[in-house]
Amino acid sequence: MLKIGITGNIGSGKTTVSQMFRVLGIPVFYADIEAKNIMTTDPVLVANMKKAFGDEAYFTDGSLNRKYIANIVFNDDEQLAKLNSLTHPAVFRAFDTWVAGIENVPYVIKEAALLFESTSYKMCDYSLLVTAPLDLRIARVTKRDHITRAEVEAREAKQFTEAKKRELADYIIENGETQLLIPQVLKLHDAFLQLAAV
Ligand code: ATP
Repeated sequence: MLKIGITGNIGSGKTTVSQMFRVLGIPVFYADIEAKNIMTTDPVLVANMKKAFGDEAYFTDGSLNRKYIANIVFNDDEQLAKLNSLTHPAVFRAFDTWVAGIENVPYVIKEAALLFESTSYKMCDYSLLVTAPLDLRIARVTKRDHITRAEVEAREAKQFTEAKKRELADYIIENGETQLLIPQVLKLHDAFLQLAAV
């Protein structure tokens, strides 16, 4: 079973594209949602988090103290790297477990905002980048999330540039104003089916 990683910078449309593959019957693993879930459901991760950041990382009811963690990693690259070194492998494990439970499909998709940054693309057979001009992405996200342009730009600055991602990606979907998504998705679905049949 082929594993396709889908990524894209903020507001690029990766979730929209992933949903289109789902409509075609392809299972999608949402790494960013899963990353949030496992912070409380993966006992190994919870233990490692407490060891790394102290028991205060969790409230007594077992929920994650996001504010506490955010304060620690905010503007501290070393602490952020420490957090990532715990969470990324845990998401990889969750993906492997998820894949192991799936049968009778030619390929699956892992949607991850940090597919390249986390190196998880190396565990996929192919990577697909969804891309759109920055101004359009800002317009889409500020409308969707009611946040400011500056907040979008701050998040954008934390990710690899689109130029770098273009170099790393095996496939690219252009999601600009005049480019239609559905024909691009159908064409790639066809290509992935052929690759899966080899
Ligand atoms: P994030 O990185 O913030 O999770 P994303 O890359 O998953 O974003 P989406 O949520 O799929 O992006 O898209 C961002 C917003 O832009 C959504 O509101 C979506 O409906 C809209 N959008 C995406 N593609 C298009 C398009 N081709 N035409 C119009 N609106 C679009």
